Parts: sequence; C-alpha cells; structure tokens
Amino acid sequence: MDNMPVDMPKFIEKAEHVLMHTYSRYQIVLDRGEGVYLYNLNGKKYLDFAAGIAVFALGYGNKEYNDALKNQIDKLLHTSNYYYNVPTVEAAEKLKKASGMDRVFFTNSGTEAIEGAIKLARKYYYNKNNRTDSEIISMNRSFHGRSMGALSVTGQPQYRAAFEPLIGGVVFADFNDISSVKEKVTDKTCAIIVEPVQGEGGLYPADREFLVDIRKLCDEKDMLLIFDEIQCGMGRTGNMFAYQGYGVKPDIITTAKALGCGVPVGAFAATEKAAAAFEPGDHGTTYGGNPFATAAVSKVFDLFESEQLLAHVNEISVYLVQKLDELVGKYDFILERRGKGLMQGLEFKGPVKDYILKAMDKGLIIIAAGANIIRFVPPLVITKEHVDEMICILESIF
Ligand SMILES: *Cc1c(COP(=O)(O)O)cnc(C)c1O
Repeated sequence: MDNMPVDMPKFIEKAEHVLMHTYSRYQIVLDRGEGVYLYNLNGKKYLDFAAGIAVFALGYGNKEYNDALKNQIDKLLHTSNYYYNVPTVEAAEKLKKASGMDRVFFTNSGTEAIEGAIKLARKYYYNKNNRTDSEIISMNRSFHGRSMGALSVTGQPQYRAAFEPLIGGVVFADFNDISSVKEKVTDKTCAIIVEPVQGEGGLYPADREFLVDIRKLCDEKDMLLIFDEIQCGMGRTGNMFAYQGYGVKPDIITTAKALGCGVPVGAFAATEKAAAAFEPGDHGTTYGGNPFATAAVSKVFDLFESEQLLAHVNEISVYLVQKLDELVGKYDFILERRGKGLMQGLEFKGPVKDYILKAMDKGLIIIAAGANIIRFVPPLVITKEHVDEMICILESIF
C-alpha cells in the first residue's frame, strides 16, 4: 500500500456488500498489532483493552509464539483425528495439568466446546438410566455460544427468540441464587452449566457459596457440573482457571478464547468419571485439535509459565481495580465496578456506546457487555503505564 492513506469508508462500504449483516461493526479496519497496541490501515495506533474479546492474552507479535506457529506450518498443518500427532498430545497434557481434568477433546471454537460438553452430559445420563429425557439447568443472563446447542443453554432471550425451537430439556435458574437452582432440579437433571464469572451477560462473578452449593447438589444427585471458562479461564482472573480461585472443581470444563491466543481453538475437558461416558463414534471433528492449532495451545501454556503471567495478572489487576474504583467514586453516572482479575466491567446509568466510539477516536479500544457496561479484558501482559494511559483517555471523555 506504499504509505498511501487508505480510504477506509470506501473499504468499509465494500465490506458491507460481501459480509453478512450479523454485526454492527466499529468503523475501523485493523491491520496489524504490536504488544498491546493495534494499528488501523492508515497507521493510527490504538491501545487495546479488548484483546479480540479476551483472546490475545500474550499481546501481539510475541516472537516465541509466532515462531512456533511458523515452524508448525512448515511441518504439518493438519492430519484429522484418525491418527496421532505430537503437538495435540503435548497440548492435551498441558491442558490436563492446568485444568486438573483427566481427558481433553479439542474443538475449533468455544461454541463447539459447549456442544461437546452438552453431549457428554447427555451420554453420561443415558448410560446411567438408559433414557433420553435428560434436562440441563443453565443460568439466566449466561452466554455459551451461537450454535443451536450452545444457544439452547444461553440465558439471554434476545439471542434465542428467532431461532426457536432450540434443543429441549433446558431450564434456567438465577445466577447466585441456589434456591432457584434447587427448584429446577428433577430426577432428569443430568447437568448444571455455569460461568464462574459471567462475561457477555455483564461481568458478574459467582459467589463462592453458590458454586460450593451447586457442587454439593451435583454430588448428591449424581449430576455433572459444567464450568464454562471460555472467557474467564486461561489466567484471566489470576488463576489458570477461575474455578481454582473458588476451590470448587467441575466435572467438565470448557475453554477457548485465550487457549490459542488467536488461533481458533477450544476444548472441553472432563474428569475420568465423566469422560468415560464417551465411546468411539460418539463425538468427532475434522479440524478440531489439528497440529497447527495445538502447536499454538502448547506454546501458550509454555509462555504462561516462562513469562509468569498468573503472577503478573494478580499484580496488575489490583492496580486496574483501584483505578476503575476511583472512576466509580468520581463520576456519579458510573454505578459500579464488577469482575475478577483482568476481567472487569463498569456499569453505567445509561448506554455506553458513545463512550466506546469516543475512546476509539482517542486511540483506545474497549468493548461493551450489554448496553450499559464497558468491559475491560486487555491482553494479560499490560503494565501500569497501559492502565494509566487507558484511564487518562477515559477521563478525557468523561
Ligand atoms: C465467547 C464465549 C463462548 C463462545 O465461544 P465462541 O468461540 O465465540 O464460539 C461461550 N461461552 C463463553 C463464556 C464465552 O465468553
């Protein structure tokens, strides 16, 4: 492009002719990234506090990560799951260790990880009861993905309405309200699915007692507890997985987003007891866990260790929380801050869209979670200086 300014509105008009209208996109064309900064086609620089929706934990252009991918491209990209390959097994070992689960199934996305978790829970029930009338309890305000199964357990009517009938046997309870969960339990309940920190639904952390009580309920009735850690997992809350901070272990865990740090990959993992329900033929995927995607996963786990990211998140998130709390104290149109670690939200009295657009003009990328909440899910490698820069831009807008 030879440094010629690109006519972005014209490019965007072209884009709107070829892409399906499923998003109201922000009017910028992103071109490259470096550290925690993104650049548009004309070289305008943005501080990135969204990380591609909680994906790019390592920041952009991590050399070791990029080299690992380049090496794998030259070696072998794909094999199918009819055979074994080294990166998949290495990545599975690392995920097993990090998640405390026993067995791993790699997918291409978060929504597919949820599909797998739902199928595993149903199969567990089927094996036990030889019946196909199982029910799943999910939470109001939850978000689990866009495919029909994942949408069926997503507790936000606006995403579901047009796509009914969804899969049956799903009932919704109130998050952080154990009595509402107990009301929904029947002898057909095969699983309870919960995000330890609700993301899309508005950055609501679970109360510890709630998760403890749900665990107890699942143990009593031999139901499987599924934690959707697609957003809150992979170090975001300061633990590798959020459940470890709560001390409440699920039977099945789903992960994606930062698992591949940009390469599309997800996984569901389960304890031996739950995983044993699957037999050959029960589930499959062509791409899932291919050596390219899992080379990324494997390197991501290595870098979490060598760069001591968990310790960093625990340190820097204290500073972010302090700065966000100062904003809450200073501006009466901000109602509260919620979240855990580097997964934070500010709830406003009214819509936040204008703030997000103005921030973008000033070189800051932030995203919403619902109409009134700004979500902060930056790369995990941000420093105090980045937090200060972000706060400074927000203050100039407020
Ligand atoms: C993003 C997300 C999903 C869906 O993942 P995709 O990769 O977009 O399919 C599911 N659950 C939670 C908690 C998420 O944040």
